[in-house]
Amino acid sequence: MSDISRRRFTTSLIGAGGLLSAATVLNAQTASEKRTDRVLGIALVGLGYYSTDVLAPALQKTRNVHLAGIVTGTPAKALKWQKEYGIAKKNIYNYDNFDRIAENKDIDIIYIVLPNSMHAEYVIRAANAGKHVICEKPMALTVKECDAMIEACRKNNVMLSIGYRMHFEPHTQELMRYVKEKTFGDITFVTANAGYFHQNGDHWKAKKAYGGGAIMDMGVYSINAARYATGEEPVSVSAQQFKTRPQIFKEVEETATFQFEFPSGAVANCMTSFSHNISLLHILARKGWIQLNPMQSYRGIKMTTRKGPVELPQINQQAAQMDEVAWCIANKKPMRVPGEEGRQDIKIVQAIYKSLETGEKVLV
Ligand code: NAD
Repeated sequence: MSDISRRRFTTSLIGAGGLLSAATVLNAQTASEKRTDRVLGIALVGLGYYSTDVLAPALQKTRNVHLAGIVTGTPAKALKWQKEYGIAKKNIYNYDNFDRIAENKDIDIIYIVLPNSMHAEYVIRAANAGKHVICEKPMALTVKECDAMIEACRKNNVMLSIGYRMHFEPHTQELMRYVKEKTFGDITFVTANAGYFHQNGDHWKAKKAYGGGAIMDMGVYSINAARYATGEEPVSVSAQQFKTRPQIFKEVEETATFQFEFPSGAVANCMTSFSHNISLLHILARKGWIQLNPMQSYRGIKMTTRKGPVELPQINQQAAQMDEVAWCIANKKPMRVPGEEGRQDIKIVQAIYKSLETGEKVLV
């Protein structure tokens, strides 16, 4: 952190009404300050939007891990990436020869960035190749698939993390601390909304077989947020859906709302959508409130509480995520976001779909 940003940061801490402790300041910095002895090699599998526009640029900022390999079915992409990022030819694979990555000592971690329906197969193949794995959200289509993925990693003695980047984001981490320490008292009601405007009915995100739909794509942010906003697991789920463009969303949900009841009596009302641009987390507690708006954008996460704005550094979430994952692997430390975290959200996703199907409240 530069002197200027450190000064701004310190000023903003004071502005937050003394809520932030020294531990918080450290916490916000750890992602970039934990260093591995060796820079690990990562291979991205699936060179679509997220790999191309977000992860590869983030990998130019990481210090514990570097872009060592790629797996793609498109030779033209392989050439382009090879030139742009100086990737060794021997570290470029396609979907057929992918399993030979087992022999490649340059690759420590395989990052699965494929359509959702392909996550389970490729995580299991990566684990069987003896590589540590990061899998994008949502983890898979079913709990059964999640169990098989977790088991494959356990059996091969490799680590698994799910790409929930918000867990590495300083404001979100601070919110989690408020929840844990009951800074504003017991939590009573949570609003968690995540959506954007999607209009391509031909995209895999609009196809059921690929694990498409707003719930799988953006709903997992609302679900995950409702869980970290309460520190509890829901005991019941009720869900509703609304379609305004059935010609685009023939097979999948466009907008869904869902409510969770938690053991403490807290309630969450969540929304996810392919028709509304929204990113909001609001927590109502007995002694105040906490809000993130936006709550899951790549940059510009904004936090306000009853006591005023809380400004923490805006970081590259994906770089922080991959750096920390690499550090955990190198130091054999538990993952911040292990497979079990992704599995729990899929368990809730399945309950949401069941509630949509039956029109009834579903016990989780
Ligand atoms: P995308 O469609 O842009 O990319 C998917 C890639 O998979 C493409 O390169 C495509 O060629 C490849 N692919 C291989 N086999 C395929 C097949 N049989 N059918 C279709 N594509 C095939 O998708 P994306 O937006 O990059 O999403 C990829 C994953 O990343 C998804 O799981 C998504 O949820 C996740 N994602 C996460 C974030 C985040 O913020 N964490 C953001 C965007 C996407």
